[in-house]
Amino acid sequence: MAFESLTEKLQNVFKNLRSKGRLTEADVKTALREVKMALLEADVNFKVVKQFIKSVQERAVGQDVMNGLNPGQMVIKIVNEEMVNLMGSETTEIPSKQGKEITIWMMAGLQGAGKTTTAAKLAGKMKSKGKKPLLVACDVYRPAAITQLQVNGEKQGVEVFSMGDKNHPVDIAKAAVEHAKNNQQNLVIIDTAGRLHIDEDMMRELEEIKAQVDVDATILVVDAMTGQDAVNVASAFAEKVGIDGVILTKMDGDTRGGAALSIKAVSGKPIYFVGMGEKLSDLEQFYPDRMASRILGMGDVMSLIEKVEASIDEEKAREMEKKFKKAEFGFDDYLESMNQMKNMGGISSILNMLPGIGGNKLKDIEGMIDEKDLARKEAMILSMTPQERANPAILNVSRKQRIARGSGVDISEVNRLVKQFEQTKKMMKQMPGMMGGRGGKRGGF
Ligand code: GDP
Repeated sequence: MAFESLTEKLQNVFKNLRSKGRLTEADVKTALREVKMALLEADVNFKVVKQFIKSVQERAVGQDVMNGLNPGQMVIKIVNEEMVNLMGSETTEIPSKQGKEITIWMMAGLQGAGKTTTAAKLAGKMKSKGKKPLLVACDVYRPAAITQLQVNGEKQGVEVFSMGDKNHPVDIAKAAVEHAKNNQQNLVIIDTAGRLHIDEDMMRELEEIKAQVDVDATILVVDAMTGQDAVNVASAFAEKVGIDGVILTKMDGDTRGGAALSIKAVSGKPIYFVGMGEKLSDLEQFYPDRMASRILGMGDVMSLIEKVEASIDEEKAREMEKKFKKAEFGFDDYLESMNQMKNMGGISSILNMLPGIGGNKLKDIEGMIDEKDLARKEAMILSMTPQERANPAILNVSRKQRIARGSGVDISEVNRLVKQFEQTKKMMKQMPGMMGGRGGKRGGF
């Protein structure tokens, strides 16, 4: 899970700070030494760490803190603010042209960084914002890349322009722009060739495409799991090819967080989006403030709300709310609510965004909630008759035994499911208006 180990260490430092009523300069120094160690272990660039600690220290030993009512929280606030600054303060949009003109984005990056996957993810995201994208297969050296782009483009409902592997990438890019003009597409996303290492030929090819096609943004894709290597790649590309910004992939597997924290400060280039998984929907806009909150274990409630909003079918939610009010909530609805949860990326991805559940606590909870358990619950519910699902009160011992046999579980599990269902029902009744609905009270299952 993203940033797990860094969050855990920082939370321990802050726990010690919070337990003190008044902070001395020595307390602050000790805490910052620990923060420094945690950042270095997270593979944050050492120059960045040095500057970061210096900025926090200057502010933390200043008057405002010492006069503050709760100095421990004040230090956390400063660390949070400096972390937001480090990652670029504000969300940066990828440069694009206005109106009817065609915007051209070129993807760059080393092989395996996730460039082809990210191009398709990005196309889908822009399509959902009303753009008409065209994906362009310019990686002519790896024939599998063309097929991969075609498969992913099809899944996203986005056209893929390809001329096979016999043409020069510059010619393909030019022809693609013509194609977009003729087909009223207004966003061209070019997937280029990667190499295993930084390589002169690759750089030259990117420069050539840039010179010949009116590229609005060169987007570098780097793998967060490679830590400082990702930062070095970003600096090299920024210097040689000239990039506008970065998409950081595989953040879902990055427990340290060094790349996310250093890229902007070292290369000067902002992070536009982060890849959070292999699925084509796993691309999130990068918000420095939300990311800092996540790293500090303060949760990312805004992203959670957006995720819930994006995955909840509002009509279904309203229907369910009515059922609660009329006390008609049955097992079919329970199953539906479990599926909604699955759509949101499972329990662990939701818990990770809640305040105070990062690091240690998350591991404990993940241990308690077994996602396979959801599959067993589904099997039990599907073994019930429609009457039983609608009216669980009729579930007597012999019915429960039949359900247990039908779903291959022990009767004690059926009993547990019924109990959990009753508890959920009770809990939901106590929370009127919590079943979704934009603009009103939000919430989930
Ligand atoms: P390319 O060589 O740069 O075009 O890389 P690909 O797009 O082929 O991706 C390489 C591998 O990384 C594939 O297995 C992708 O599924 C995987 N990948 C890409 N982005 C992410 C991400 O955000 N998270 C995870 N877990 N895997 C990713």
